[in-house]
Amino acid sequence: MSDTSEKKVRLTMLLRSQAILSSSILSAIETIPREKFIDHALRHHAYENASLPIACGQTISQPYIVAKMTEALELKSRHVVLEIGTGSGYQASVLSLLARRVYTMERHRLLFVEARNRLAKLKLTNITMRLGDGFVGWPEAAPFDRIIITCQVEKLPEVLVKQLKSDGILIAPVGPTGKEFLTKLTKKGEVIHVERLISVRFVPMIPGIADA
Ligand code: SAH
Repeated sequence: MSDTSEKKVRLTMLLRSQAILSSSILSAIETIPREKFIDHALRHHAYENASLPIACGQTISQPYIVAKMTEALELKSRHVVLEIGTGSGYQASVLSLLARRVYTMERHRLLFVEARNRLAKLKLTNITMRLGDGFVGWPEAAPFDRIIITCQVEKLPEVLVKQLKSDGILIAPVGPTGKEFLTKLTKKGEVIHVERLISVRFVPMIPGIADA
């Protein structure tokens, strides 16, 4: 077995021991080459269960958190998903193997361009990207079956809740900076149910497009 596939197996075993049991999620994590989403110098850390720095002072989440958020979305292969916070494009890539289409938005041009090149190389053609402000959402493509926000918000953005279908699920790290909880919102008609999952740390969601 090659060094990388051995590391991948070790990582999926670790995730399974942390109660990530979905074989389709574990297999998506095994399939997407995480080393291609980070700086060359950090590549030997790619299959550690750790968050890692990417450009523009942002981070690629820990594989456990990627798996946990993906699991909480309860994806079906027909679903259309909106992600806020493309970052490296890693979470979007994992989602793209489990859903019909993924729309993903990023406010930093550099991250957007780098992620676009990566996703093209990996031939993940069911991901649509936009350089834009997640607080506006993606009205032309709404409503979405699922929405995932991969940056911290003080409270759930009303605009995004509106862009979620009935029977939809939205996952986001919600709460004051440094005290956020992974939060799962479920919409049934006009009825909204909100549930707190686990304590997490994320970079903040910032309004507007960044200057660089
Ligand atoms: N999902 C990413 C990691 C996200 S880090 C991955 O798999 O690599 C959070 C990202 O959200 C950062 O790239 C940050 O620039 C972006 N972000 C913050 N505020 C935003 C906003 N208002 N609209 C779009 N993206 C935003």
